[in-house]
Amino acid sequence: MDEADIAAERIEREMASLLALRRHTGPAPTGACLWCGEPLAPSLRWCSAECRDDWERKHARAHRR
Ligand SMILES: [Zn+2]
Repeated sequence: MDEADIAAERIEREMASLLALRRHTGPAPTGACLWCGEPLAPSLRWCSAECRDDWERKHARAHRR
C-alpha cells in the first residue's frame, strides 16, 4: 500500500465513524458533545467516536447485566 491508499483508508474509516455517530439512536443533539461538552454542529451529539464510545459505555451499563 502506498501513502495515498493509507490516507484513503483512514478517511474511509473516519467517514464510517461519523456515519455511525449520525445513525446512533439516543438523546437529541444539543449543539455540544454529550461527553466532553465540546461545541459542535447542531446535528451532532459527539465530537468523536471516542466520546461516543465512552458515553455509550457509561449509558450501556444500565441496560446490560
Ligand atoms: Zn467530545
